[in-house]
Order: sequence, then structure tokens, then C-alpha cells
Amino acid sequence: MSVTLFVNTSQVVTCSGPGRGRRGREMADAGVRSDVAIAIDGELIAAVGDEDDLRRHYADAAIVDCGKRVVTPGLVDSHTHAIFGRARYREQELRASGVGYMEIARQGGGIHSSVADLRTRSENELYDLALPRILRLASYGSTTIEVKSGYGLSTDDELKSLRVIARLARDTNIRLVPTWLGAHEIPQEYRSSDRNRADYVRLLVDEMLPAVQNGKLARFADVFCEPGVFTLEETRIILRASKAAGLGLKLHADELEPNGGAELAAELGATSADHLAAISDRGVAALAASPTVATLLPGTMLFLGKQTQAPARSLIEAGAAVAVATDFNPGTSPTFNFPLILTLAVSQLRLSASEALVAATVNGAAALGIAGQTGQLTPGYSADLAIWEADDFREIPYWYGDRRCSGTWMQGKPCYSQMPSDNLSPSREPDPARARSHHA
Ligand SMILES: [Zn+2]
Repeated sequence: MSVTLFVNTSQVVTCSGPGRGRRGREMADAGVRSDVAIAIDGELIAAVGDEDDLRRHYADAAIVDCGKRVVTPGLVDSHTHAIFGRARYREQELRASGVGYMEIARQGGGIHSSVADLRTRSENELYDLALPRILRLASYGSTTIEVKSGYGLSTDDELKSLRVIARLARDTNIRLVPTWLGAHEIPQEYRSSDRNRADYVRLLVDEMLPAVQNGKLARFADVFCEPGVFTLEETRIILRASKAAGLGLKLHADELEPNGGAELAAELGATSADHLAAISDRGVAALAASPTVATLLPGTMLFLGKQTQAPARSLIEAGAAVAVATDFNPGTSPTFNFPLILTLAVSQLRLSASEALVAATVNGAAALGIAGQTGQLTPGYSADLAIWEADDFREIPYWYGDRRCSGTWMQGKPCYSQMPSDNLSPSREPDPARARSHHA
């Protein structure tokens, strides 16, 4: 095995601890250490400790000089909708002129316009559109990215979207976690009556879900549970069937109105409940009493011009595990910039910088059911790490809107690099068969 030492760091944010989400007060400690080095052996982290000790112990190791920068776990973006066709910038102006989200949807905009667009595109075309987006997301520090389908809303078009995610996972050195979101919306052709809605729910459960499972194309099933979209009862039917089929569960819950989505997520044992800007006190209590991660998406509320945000402090004080993510999507959060979401986590959700880092690493991993594998710099964990142009990790949310990530590694292999090659290359030549670097 080849060992690489990451030396000359200013701070290393380890997020070390148990292989599960950090809850409540546990989130306050991101495990910040000064003047330590990191040894990686193949795909795994071997040690985090005193630089001189590690240099002695691994005398033959390749060296990466971090240039007195900060090292963190690679960020885990646990909520994106990166498989879509064209951008939807027209809606931004409509919203500014006072037209609401649901009204835009009623006019055939919103998700429906992305659905109509995606259905006309081939799998290759979608792949070519999605690849640079994924690389750009990674260029901001993410080494793990969840990607949802959900703009197809027919069996063929959802499978097409999920196959694109599988190809992207094979072709990039980024850990992609696929989620089936066939229940993103009731498609237009099923909207004319209640019976038609029921037909779509049946299609999801009886045809689409088995096809997704048959192709092993998704790790999670997700439902947009919101008044006007899927009801609590429909959500329960779809997610129970998904759980029985062996998928993990996620919910878009309580985004616009409190309707019991968070409580349902806890009841069903969902891995995460996402959005939660309108969560009720009962919902907060339900998540605090369950292992379900509360995934907050502050960029979406900002982009929609909302004055409110999810009650992050209440969730943390109640003892919930809070994650944050970009919600990268063409309608309501077209940002690639995860560190900007950390800025919002501090300024809008009132998290400390440590809490924000934990929410974007170990708790993002927990929201994907992989907290025992990534999200922390601990021996035995996947060697997923990010180097930042900063002396102090609190600069990551501070320099807002900037791209301070200067390089990432996933499973010990370069994932993204913008550092000068004479500065951050290992001192020995990497094995060309193993090293796959992407420049976004
Ligand atoms: Zn979403």
C-alpha cells in the first residue's frame, strides 16, 4: 500500500467521534486540532497526529505540503437535484414581481417545465449536461454528493435519470449517492382528478419502484410531501413500499406549510427529513426523539426571497442531528457553492462555525446512512478530505461566496485540484492508473 502524508497544515478539523450523526450539543465540537499531519494508506485514513511522529513512522511516504492551510473532511452534500435540462432563470424575475411558487407551478412553470424539458432529452444529452455540474459542485469542497432523479415522472424518464447518475458515479472520482424521487410532483397528465392521482401513486409503487430496484439504481426513495403535492397518506404508501423493497427513506417535509411531514419521517424511520422551514413544535420533538437527520437547506429560502428559515437552534437545542446541503436544483437553489451554504448556516440558521462544519460533514454523511464510512478524519475512515485556503476553519463560512477550496481527495485519490502542481503534488509520481483528477 502507498502511504501519503498531508503535512504543514494550519488546522485539521477532524469531526472525529462515533460513526453516527452528532446530536444537539455534540455538534459544537468539530474536533479542531493544530499542527497535526494526516497519513492516508490507500483508500483509508491511517493516522492523524504529530507531524514529526508520522514522518518517522512513515519514512517512505509521499508528501503533500498543505502550505499552512486548513484541512477538513470532504464535504458531504446530501441533497441535490443535479439531473435536469435547461436552467429556469425566468422564474426568478416572476417571483421578484410577486408571483408565488405554487402560482408559477399552476402556470406550468416550476417542476413541470423541467419535467417537460427532461423528457425530450436523451440519456447522453443529460449526462453531458450533468457531468460539468457535478465537477463544479466538487470544486467547492464536496467529495460525496447525493443526486436525485425527479424531473422524469414516468418510469422510462426516471430510469433514464438514474442511469445518468450511475454513469457519473463510474466516470468521476466523486462518491455519488443516487436517490429515486419519482414522487417529486404529480405529473400534469395525472392531475385532472383524484382518481388520476391515485393512478400515479399506483404507478410509482407497482411499476416504477420495482424497475428502480431491479436495476439497483437507487439507495434512497424520496417524496415531496407538501400540501398541493403528495399528501401525508400518499407519502406513507410510497415510502412504506420503498422501505419494504429495501430502500432508505428521505422526505421533502414541511417546506412551505407544517403538515406533519417531520413526524411522518420519524414514524417511518426515515434517514432524513429535508427542508423543514415550516416544521411545527411537534415535528421538532419528533425528530429530536428519532435517529432521523434534520437536513436544512438555507440557500433555497434565500433564493426564494423568504424571510424565514428552518428553526435550526430549536432543533439543536431539542437534541436533533442537523445537516445542511445545497439543494442544488434549477428552480429554487441554483448554487454550486456549498461553503456559501455554510455562511448561511451561520448567519441565517445561527449555527456556530463548528456546528456548520459538522452539519456539512459527519451529519451530511449520517443523512446518507454512511456516517461510519465518511464525514470525519479518523483512522479507518475513507480518505475523503478537503484543503482550504485559510489559516482558521472559521474562514470557510466567513469569506462568503468565495471558492477557498484548493483541493480534495476521495478514497485517497485526487478528486478536485486547483493548487499549483509544484505546491500540492505528492513528492513521488502517483500511479497513473489510480490517479484521476478532475478540473471543473
Ligand atoms: Zn429537494
